[in-house]
Amino acid sequence: MLDIKLKLKAGHTSERQWMESSRLKTLFWNVTYDCNYRCPVCFTDSGETQPGELTTEEAFRTVKRIHEAGVHDVIISGGEPFIRKDMTAILEKMAKSGIRARIASNGSLLTENILSRLRNATLTDSFQISLDTVRPDFYEKFHNAPAGSFLDVMDTLGRIKEYGFHTTVSVRVMPETLAGIPKLIDTAVELGWSTVTLHIPVPTRRFRDAFPSGTDIISLLRPVFEHFCDCSRTWLVETYIPWAQYHPVIKKLAERIRVVNRGCRAGRDRLTINPTGMISPCVCLDVQEAYIGNVKHDNLQDVFKNSRLCNLMRHPLDYGICADCPNAGKCGGGCRVSAFATSGRMDAVDQSCPVRRRMDR
Ligand code: SF4
Ligand code: SF4
Repeated sequence: MLDIKLKLKAGHTSERQWMESSRLKTLFWNVTYDCNYRCPVCFTDSGETQPGELTTEEAFRTVKRIHEAGVHDVIISGGEPFIRKDMTAILEKMAKSGIRARIASNGSLLTENILSRLRNATLTDSFQISLDTVRPDFYEKFHNAPAGSFLDVMDTLGRIKEYGFHTTVSVRVMPETLAGIPKLIDTAVELGWSTVTLHIPVPTRRFRDAFPSGTDIISLLRPVFEHFCDCSRTWLVETYIPWAQYHPVIKKLAERIRVVNRGCRAGRDRLTINPTGMISPCVCLDVQEAYIGNVKHDNLQDVFKNSRLCNLMRHPLDYGICADCPNAGKCGGGCRVSAFATSGRMDAVDQSCPVRRRMDR
């Protein structure tokens, strides 16, 4: 993901050099393509269940394989995870295996019953809820959600916070959502949420045409960063964009607040499992060309260690990616999703990088 996390509360952050080799530590697991909302932008194109999605038994076996791979941190997403009737049972299996689950959800199906069950059995400690705006009419239109959904999601966020779960809201940065982000930050401060995560569009699936090609989205976010820095309870900014540290707006931001560059984790310490069990390095690379195995029959650690694509993502210079850029050793050659989207090749350059744009002028 091309995320920028605006952190309002102190907590853990890693200062580890993200380009260092690591081991497989985290999995994204998109448990279904089914969703009760139809957001105009969705990086998994969700909406309907697809043929071949993991059955309950296969999902339980997947938990066993994750455990055997020694992975203890899983981000559950979808689609909408709680549209699966067996979601709580899957979380119970994970908890019994010592696997921490973090949950990304639209929040609409998180009933009181489900939330108290998750809390009482300590099945998760962290929620990331999609909230692109605090304007009720726009929220419902944007998500294709029924009337009253905005009030429902705000109620859910209140309960999540009250129950002591780590509370993050995630915003898709779009031409339609940009102007409302400062107000959303104010709401986060007022209600005591921990983090506002900005999802910068990656050129994939229904996220592809969010902005006209070539738009410098980071520059459009300058007023958002300024507003965030003016809030009294800010702690730090974490960026997950490989070249973020070279962008003039992020450099300016770093003069006002601590900015930690976490870079691209795909293939470096994380993999993604899609709803049919296919494994790929990045949650935004749910395409045939990026499938490197299937959790039904492949060992996660073997795939992580041996797949050409993971090796390319870990060692971009060995594959000639960005060999002409002095920053390549620190940046890792940019985003592979972006490179693939513009060229059809995983080893192409990332044209969205500001340094690349300058070099190509
Ligand atoms: S390839 Fe890396 S930088 Fe690009 S979207 Fe995936 S995780 Fe983010
Ligand atoms: S040109 Fe390549 S290595 Fe250099 S900063 Fe951009 S993406 Fe990173």
